[in-house]
Amino acid sequence: MKFQDFIRLENEFGAMNYRPLDVVLTRGQGIWVWDVDGNRYMDCLSAYSAVNQGHCHPKIAAVMKEQAEKLTLTSRAFRNDQLGLFYKELCDLTRSHTVLPMNSGAEAVESAIKAVRKWGYRDRGVPEGQAEIVVCENNFHGRTITIVGFSSEKQYRDGYAPFTPGFRIIPFGDARAFEQAITPNTVAILVEPIQGEAGIILPPDGYLRDVRRICDERGVMMITDEIQTGLGRTGKMLAEEHEGVEADLTLIGKALSGGFYPVSAVLSNKEVLGVFRPGDHGSTFGGNPMACAVARIAMRVLVEEGMIENAAEAGKYFMTCLRSVSSPLVKEIRGRGLMIGVELREEAGGARRFCETLMARGLLCKETHTNVIRFAPPLIIRREEIDWAIERIAAVLKGA
Ligand SMILES: *Cc1c(COP(=O)(O)O)cnc(C)c1O
Repeated sequence: MKFQDFIRLENEFGAMNYRPLDVVLTRGQGIWVWDVDGNRYMDCLSAYSAVNQGHCHPKIAAVMKEQAEKLTLTSRAFRNDQLGLFYKELCDLTRSHTVLPMNSGAEAVESAIKAVRKWGYRDRGVPEGQAEIVVCENNFHGRTITIVGFSSEKQYRDGYAPFTPGFRIIPFGDARAFEQAITPNTVAILVEPIQGEAGIILPPDGYLRDVRRICDERGVMMITDEIQTGLGRTGKMLAEEHEGVEADLTLIGKALSGGFYPVSAVLSNKEVLGVFRPGDHGSTFGGNPMACAVARIAMRVLVEEGMIENAAEAGKYFMTCLRSVSSPLVKEIRGRGLMIGVELREEAGGARRFCETLMARGLLCKETHTNVIRFAPPLIIRREEIDWAIERIAAVLKGA
């Protein structure tokens, strides 16, 4: 089959809910991927931070193969020999107490919403059916009906009503607005430490600390969605560590499996997850031995191979290099670790065409919102590889 044949098949039989760049990938290794014609590209998206460990990490692949021939799925009707070890190792790495394993990120978000609502009714005396959760403008937490129901992005909601009630939207990065939004029925705030899909938006310094303090004062649970920012992306295991705070519930996913398999989890530092009794919540695939084995090795390579430290260092270097590129088209460069956004001015005519030009020159990245180019390579990227990327990015931003 030829390049165009793959595209034609996708377009003919698939729901058209994406507009991908027209590159047909067939192989990946580390920071590199190859298309069906053998062209090589540097992956600066990392599947939205799901392949922080790099494509097809050999150690993760080996464990996955081994586990695939041993035991894949038992359902939670029975115990398995990977689940407890997964819990223990994950808790040790993230200083958590309790884990609820799920599959997709959206499921982790839904599970946290269920947990804090139940906690509110059972332990906080909120009248049944009245619980409120505070969320932020321009949030991205996934695509279920409940989650898009509290999105402020028109397209994510359009045509999907009616939605789940019980959410209140406030501006991101504004601790005062949060304090003012709290009512006696507020059970939690759900917040991203850095808003990724919104265009790599960093809140003001101290924001998470303020949110933590307000939550403590008002008896509200703090839920951080670290599905994108977690597991090393920002140069710390969890992005909340940059402000020295611990959320009550932390959501992780994406890189938890190194991109091999959908694995997500709700991590708890308080007794919120203790509200669940047998039968209250579940998932056929959540906590299966394959997922647990893959997640265990994916976490281990992240730590043992120094990827988190590298994300901090390489991220600083990447941003410094980007800042040295002088282009009248660039409005702002921002980020933390290897989660970097370049916001273009209106005159630039949108980020999409820059991503297309970069693709033609061997670098894959994706626009987020109209004017931001996101750079988020796997956390194993080295200086000389960043130099290679910057050469291309500079040329494209300068219109060469
Ligand atoms: C990707 C993402 C999700 C949703 O994860 P899925 O696995 O796509 O359901 C939720 N929150 C954040 C911050 C994300 O980046």
